[in-house]
Amino acid sequence: MTRLPVAAGRAVAPFLRRFACRVRLAPFVRLVLLCLALGVGPLAAAPEAARPVRVGVLAFLDADAMSSQWEPLLDRLAAALPGSRPVLVQLDHAALREAVARQSVDFVITNPGSYVALEMEFGISRIATLDTALAPSPARAVGSAVIVRAEREDIGTLADLVGKRVAAVGDDAFGGFQVAWREFAQLGIDPNADFAALDFVGLPMRKVVDAVASGRADAGIVRACTVENLAAAGGSAGGAPSQQFRVLSPRPEADFPCLTSTRLYPDWPIATLRSTPPALAKAVATALLAMPPTREGMSWTVPADYQSVHELFRELQTGPYGYLKESTLRAAVVRYWPAVLVLATLLVGWIIYTVRVEHLVQVRTAELRRALDERQAIERRMRAHQEEVEHLSRLSILGELSGTLAHEINQPLASIGNYAQSLVRRVDNGRLTDAAVREASVEIAGQAERAAGILGRIRGFARKRAAVRERRVLAEVVHETVALFSGMLSNRPEISVDEGAAAGCAVEVDPLQIQQVLLNLLKNGLDAMSDLPAEARRLRIALAREDDTLRVDVRDFGRGLAPEARDRLFESFFTTKPDGLGLGLSICATIVEAHGGRLSARPPETGAGMVFTFTLPCHD
Ligand code: ADP
Repeated sequence: MTRLPVAAGRAVAPFLRRFACRVRLAPFVRLVLLCLALGVGPLAAAPEAARPVRVGVLAFLDADAMSSQWEPLLDRLAAALPGSRPVLVQLDHAALREAVARQSVDFVITNPGSYVALEMEFGISRIATLDTALAPSPARAVGSAVIVRAEREDIGTLADLVGKRVAAVGDDAFGGFQVAWREFAQLGIDPNADFAALDFVGLPMRKVVDAVASGRADAGIVRACTVENLAAAGGSAGGAPSQQFRVLSPRPEADFPCLTSTRLYPDWPIATLRSTPPALAKAVATALLAMPPTREGMSWTVPADYQSVHELFRELQTGPYGYLKESTLRAAVVRYWPAVLVLATLLVGWIIYTVRVEHLVQVRTAELRRALDERQAIERRMRAHQEEVEHLSRLSILGELSGTLAHEINQPLASIGNYAQSLVRRVDNGRLTDAAVREASVEIAGQAERAAGILGRIRGFARKRAAVRERRVLAEVVHETVALFSGMLSNRPEISVDEGAAAGCAVEVDPLQIQQVLLNLLKNGLDAMSDLPAEARRLRIALAREDDTLRVDVRDFGRGLAPEARDRLFESFFTTKPDGLGLGLSICATIVEAHGGRLSARPPETGAGMVFTFTLPCHD
């Protein structure tokens, strides 16, 4: 800082202080002025040894008036603090805040609103509250009067000010605006939006009174007692002020000597900064509490409760509680940025996780679909293969039976031949009668029909086609199979069919496949009886119903099977026959299982042979 010569400093310091307080300057310029004021003043005014005790005070009057107002205080402090030199530093709101922030003052005297804000921001701490003769109690000392000219009958209460022009000191003035703002807010009136104009005319308060008196404003907000004080001091704007103006919505405040439109708040406090030495704070507090009332009746008392001021700002969401209004996203982000950061990180993580999971699901789904397609293709190939095998198996049965088949077909052909020859002979002998021709023709037709029937059934059995499901009465399928089987044999065994209680029982089957199973079992039974004389060869088919299941037993009276061979019966390629393939039973088992049933084999309870049993679900 530039050090001025002592004499120059003495002359310049008061000017600088006043200038810094009155003129709205850029913060930097104000700071420089403040430094000059704080640095130059003490340098110029006192002996080198005296320690300056700097009391920052919110200026609301002009500098001279302020100095004379606080003179008794300075005198008191000077007397109480030997070796110290109390200095009054008059500052506006912004400069006062800067001085506190920089700790360039030791004490602060300011209005309740400014005090609460500095308390919350910088931790200043009140040590005494002003006690004036006017207020009944230091806790109920500051209020606002909303004044109109007495003749304005159109304005009766605060609520009538909507759409009117209102003058006030400034948006940071406590008694000159904020106290009244709370009352307007409680009436649902927003001074910034609902008045036709809200004009901040600045200090001193008298400017507001003048604005109302001159008609520039319909109403004015001033600290309570302002009008009464002006009246006492000798009038304003021509005429006795207390009669010239009317206070809107006056509240009954017991013992309070002035009219007030608002509730009352505590008086100005004096506060210490965090940096103020405790011993100094104690000495000042003691001195102030012991200070006798001045001529105007001003003294200091124990610190008042400023909770009501906190409530005011909290309700208005302004000043130190302005953050309550910052509900915008940006404000929330600025205020809660760590939580926002965590949330944003979680959100990004969640999005990445979701996208990844979605991607994985798609990849897996595609893989599954591919696997499913492959499986279906394999199943299709297996089905085709199975059908192929079954077809081959049927052809193999026919192949095995072809010897007897040729013989069987031969019989009707031989009969046809015989009848034809007998007709030729009769023609040659001249003994051909109509009756003989008719008889021979009927026989020939019958034998031809028999041969055609055999071939038709064989063709039907041997044909190649995809598996089907038909609802059929099983007993019928059994009879058709027996007819086919018998038709292919010259030496027919005795075949009995016992339909039992299952006579009308329907099944959902591929009839050709069930024929194939039955034919296989009958042929195997016949093979097992090859050692027996023809008349001893018997096959018995028995149908039985057990609940929802139909059981078919095929029994022969042949040589039977050893237990170890029985275990391997249904294995593919297991055969005991020299020319056998060993596929018949395994194919039969597959067919029966595909129909929802089971194929099994056991020795009969009595007698020789084997019993092969297969089951099918009944569909009644
Ligand atoms: P294959 O008839 O070509 O041998 P199968 O699978 O039809 O093939 O039969 C397998 C084996 O089961 C036969 O070789 C035979 O030893 C035995 N077998 C089947 N049915 C009977 C039966 N009714 N009595 C005794 N053994 C049988």
